Amino acid sequence: MAEKDLVDKLRDTGNLADDEFSCVLLCQEPGFDEYIWEKAREVREKYYGKEVYLRGLIEYTNYCKNNCNYCGIRRDNKNAERYRLTEEDILSCCDMGYDLGFRTFVLQGGEDPYFTDDRMVSIVRNIRKRHPDCAITLSIGEKEKESYQRFFDAGADRYLLRHETADKAHYKLLHPSEMSFEHRMQCLRDLKDIGYQVGCGMMLGSPGQKTEHIIEDLKFLRDFKPHMVGIGPFIPHHDTPYADEAAGTVEQTLRLLAVIRLLLPDVLLPATTALGTIDPLGREKGLRAGANVIMPNLSPTDVRGKYLLYDNKICTGDEAAECIRCMFLRVSNAGYEVVQSRGDHARYKDGSDK
Ligand code: SAH
Repeated sequence: MAEKDLVDKLRDTGNLADDEFSCVLLCQEPGFDEYIWEKAREVREKYYGKEVYLRGLIEYTNYCKNNCNYCGIRRDNKNAERYRLTEEDILSCCDMGYDLGFRTFVLQGGEDPYFTDDRMVSIVRNIRKRHPDCAITLSIGEKEKESYQRFFDAGADRYLLRHETADKAHYKLLHPSEMSFEHRMQCLRDLKDIGYQVGCGMMLGSPGQKTEHIIEDLKFLRDFKPHMVGIGPFIPHHDTPYADEAAGTVEQTLRLLAVIRLLLPDVLLPATTALGTIDPLGREKGLRAGANVIMPNLSPTDVRGKYLLYDNKICTGDEAAECIRCMFLRVSNAGYEVVQSRGDHARYKDGSDK
């Protein structure tokens, strides 16, 4: 089958055989990208129109007990300048974000033992109390199911935990031996069981990643059916074991955004900061390839330059208000429109997924 026909097949059936996925991922034919991006836009517009949802990202701690080989805030990076925000700081970030129009807050951080379950519950409960109309998303790594349940009961509605790679051997390569593929996958299942809207995802072009691994990722996404999929290029950080590895590419990330849009038509798909880091127009291009979410930084300016997962991260100097102005402009330049809402997954809008 010609590659463009495979794009139509993916859209119409929500699936492809391995060798067909491989053709779509590797196709170099002129005009193919424009074709798949256009199909992806048609599908996103069917479910979400021209709407783009914002998530205000609060990077509340860069302490981390883990030692992922790719990540700039890994435990062994003694050069990272560590910080953590207080509960009060986090709440005032949310208040400021609310005034700027954000209706989703994402608390992301390293796995910092200081933030015990009790502390997280208190933070979530207080955000929930102050902003009952907002979605609260956590992205704080691997926990036990009881902890996830406590956060949910305190008012968290969504959780982002990238699976990083669906291939066990590749997972082992990217992570130290004390981390386990099985536990990460178990966390994702627990989160879904509890009733969170769940986001998973992977880096593109991470060391050792082969086309076969990406096909495994796609099959995992197809079967797991997450509400959100966060993907972005791997970008090396100079104080990690992967300092000298090559970064992932814009082309590959855009191709995958379109494929994921066709695979999971109503998924929430962010055009990520990493994509904006390797290409100044990366996020606009992401929106034109099927993405429908942007996650501007709401962290206080004095800590922004310290949450460095990779080198050359963008938006580390801007005030939140500047960030949001810039986002409105970028989204409208891409032909879309920022809407001020929680931006729930399409399955939640009619209550059917609850
Ligand atoms: N501690 C949380 C949050 C991790 S940071 C957790 O474990 O889920 C969020 C994501 O950034 C990671 O899941 C990873 O996919 C991505 N990331 C980390 N280092 C990166 C790098 N060097 N380049 C690109 N993305 C990276």
